[in-house]
Amino acid sequence: MSRVAVVTGASRGIGQAIAVALAEAGHRVAVGYRSGGPAARETLDLISQVGGEGLLVRGDVGVRADVDEMFTAVEDAFGPVELLVNNAGIVRDGLAVTLSDADWEQVLRTNLHGPFYCARRALRGMLRRRWGRIVNVGSIVGLLGSTGQVNYASAKAGLIGMTRSLAREVAGRNITVNTVVPGPIGTEILSELSPERLAELSRMAPMNRMGTPTEVAAAVTFLASEAAAFITGTTLPVDGGISMGG
Ligand code: NDP
Repeated sequence: MSRVAVVTGASRGIGQAIAVALAEAGHRVAVGYRSGGPAARETLDLISQVGGEGLLVRGDVGVRADVDEMFTAVEDAFGPVELLVNNAGIVRDGLAVTLSDADWEQVLRTNLHGPFYCARRALRGMLRRRWGRIVNVGSIVGLLGSTGQVNYASAKAGLIGMTRSLAREVAGRNITVNTVVPGPIGTEILSELSPERLAELSRMAPMNRMGTPTEVAAAVTFLASEAAAFITGTTLPVDGGISMGG
């Protein structure tokens, strides 16, 4: 069945792969982005290439008014939003003792406030229709912590609490809320890391490699599907086994 989907941060990386995978699954996809217009148009082209229908929606997920405008634009073009993928995210790394207020706040605003604003806005229509899927993109860092990422880890851990609370609130209306937890995935978000650090990240996984955006997209597409109707409040690692520990 074709649904109306919103994917935030879909101009590149994991979000782009999710947008294309949802289009391949037959859904109409709103491609959210903040600043990368040309990259977002590339996502739209990829959606067309798989025979799908897409729409560009620009806005900062950490700004309530932007979120409202983005959802209104999607509703006007496609109708009520049935699938929401909260994927947009940033890093601003630094050790806790010297981390600036701005870097703390910016990461929390984008990675935690943003998903909340989007979920709250999407839920209006989902509750009315008594059907919906919300998939959050967390991070292994939210489970394990990470030196120099106290802001990012706090936001991603918070996302798991948000997922479980929202899942309880809306379960009676056939709305599921889940979080996919990627391990290191080769995208621009890691572009500032040294080759040594990247090699170290690859070795973290028992599978001894990084994941790909399409591997994350496959898990998101499943959780967004009709088939995943009885799965809610869960955290699904896509991490080559890192979360097993040891
Ligand atoms: P990228 O940096 O490649 O892409 C991030 C996307 O988010 C871009 O489309 C960007 O759009 C958008 N974005 C950033 N800030 C905002 C904002 N305030 N409002 C709206 N959109 C915004 O990241 P990845 O694809 O690697 O990451 C996607 C998600 O996966 C993130 O939540 C990240 O934390 C998570 N993740 C990534 C891992 C990895 O190793 N890559 C590992 C674990 C989790 P624009 O360029 O237009 O600003």
